[in-house]
Amino acid sequence: MSNRQSADVCVVGGGYSGTMVCANLVRLGYSGTIVLIERGRRPARGVAYDPPSERLLLNVPAANMGAWADDPSEFHRWLIGRGREVAPGTFVSRAWYGEYLEQKLREAVDASRERLSVVHGEAVEYSNDDGSHRVVLDDGREVVSPRLVLALGNLRPGPLPGVRVPGGAGWWHADPWSAEAHAPCRNGERVLVIGTGLTMVDVCVSLTSVGARPKITVLSRNGLLPCVHATPGFKAVSATPPEAGWPLRRIVRHIRREARRVMREGGDWRAAIDCVRPWTRAIWSGLSAKDRERFVRLVRTPWDVHRHRVPAEVVARLVELQQRKSLRIVAGRVRRVENAGAAARVAWLERGTQREESAEFDRIINCTGARTSIDASPLLGAMAAAGVIRSEEIGLGVQTDAWARAVGRDGNVSEGVWVVGPLRRGTLWESTAVPDLREQALDAAREVLGDSGVSGARAPETWCAQ
Ligand SMILES: Cc1cc2nc3c(=O)[nH]c(=O)nc-3n(C[C@H](O)[C@H](O)[C@H](O)COP(=O)(O)OP(=O)(O)OC[C@H]3O[C@@H](n4cnc5c(N)ncnc54)[C@H](O)[C@@H]3O)c2cc1C
Repeated sequence: MSNRQSADVCVVGGGYSGTMVCANLVRLGYSGTIVLIERGRRPARGVAYDPPSERLLLNVPAANMGAWADDPSEFHRWLIGRGREVAPGTFVSRAWYGEYLEQKLREAVDASRERLSVVHGEAVEYSNDDGSHRVVLDDGREVVSPRLVLALGNLRPGPLPGVRVPGGAGWWHADPWSAEAHAPCRNGERVLVIGTGLTMVDVCVSLTSVGARPKITVLSRNGLLPCVHATPGFKAVSATPPEAGWPLRRIVRHIRREARRVMREGGDWRAAIDCVRPWTRAIWSGLSAKDRERFVRLVRTPWDVHRHRVPAEVVARLVELQQRKSLRIVAGRVRRVENAGAAARVAWLERGTQREESAEFDRIINCTGARTSIDASPLLGAMAAAGVIRSEEIGLGVQTDAWARAVGRDGNVSEGVWVVGPLRRGTLWESTAVPDLREQALDAAREVLGDSGVSGARAPETWCAQ
């Protein structure tokens, strides 16, 4: 690539979302040039599907992980085609899914006849030159395009609120998805994992993968762990979803009541959570800004642990670690982190008693969850400063309209800027897993097609356009 490259479409972020926007564009017959910018060493895989260990599993069954919106079971067939004979409901290795996505990208590049190219580098700066979006990479190269799709995905967790961590400390792992954070432990190694969600689960599986016996403490404000996926044996009892437009309090009460009813009738409480999924966008957009803020502050953690579940074998592993005294779970809030020779001394306030506890650790991993604030990314910061994007009202990513178009500082839609993936959480709430993102990737590709005046482009079939 010369120092300056022009393209008809520039997609920043080559994880699932960016890859599948490109693949959909090619499949829909887009005739323009597309540049996909990815900073990681393995485009297509993103953060989730380039795991440091083969043992880390998908949290969605294979039969529902197909990358195309119109073919959810394709991934399962792909596995079978490669001699990986698994049942449709199996939770397979995330590394296998990464291979599958790499193939999707390769196929799209081949089918595009050199119209789709991948550029390696991190997009860090932005300017708008007469309606053209100019994206500058960390090594000074530039991509200029009238259409820009932001698919930056899961931004690394932010600093611990109110806690200063000494700089340059070898025990501190700010990136919970890095190979260093996941390096298997030695016997007796003292590890603190801050956060008790899905990333914590991954970390515990990796750290103990070679049979060592570390001493892992996992700590979060609530100490709540993700629930387990359903096991067979429950009666099929369905639940009724809450209605869009109800206030948050009524929605929460309704879901709880439905869960209890389903259980009384011999069914599985998960039905009361899962029935909400097709309606999440409508319910979320029907909440007032105050209720959304309240949801994030008060309901998000209990909701996430019930909604984002883990396979039974993973839970069995955690239980085994607890029984071997290799894992303890603590509810509390970190107050101080200090150097203690080669290790760290951490003090926390125990939930409930408010007693201060402290201990020394050889490794601390920040698993407090992907950041959603736009100042977590230099590119987004530069775009916000240029006025073409703005933060979503309560800081959940970038503000977009129902058609994935970015909203600028002045409240108007920005010409030729779309957002796909976790950065749309504020607009959609469910904007994380492949079953949600595959529709988004298709819709964004159709939008780009529509915008470029290519005949045959269809309007996006979003929930609000129906
Ligand atoms: C650990 C983990 C496990 C998960 N497991 C599952 C699962 O089993 N099933 C499921 O459905 N969902 C899972 N998810 C949800 C996951 O978010 C989505 O499935 C999907 O991977 C999101 O893809 P994405 O492309 O939007 O984001 P990401 O995967 O985060 O990809 C974004 C990409 O953008 C790149 N990037 C960011 N900024 C820049 C920049 N400025 N310049 C250049 N490149 C940039 C990053 O390097 C990255 O490759 C998981 C998420 C995580 C974090």
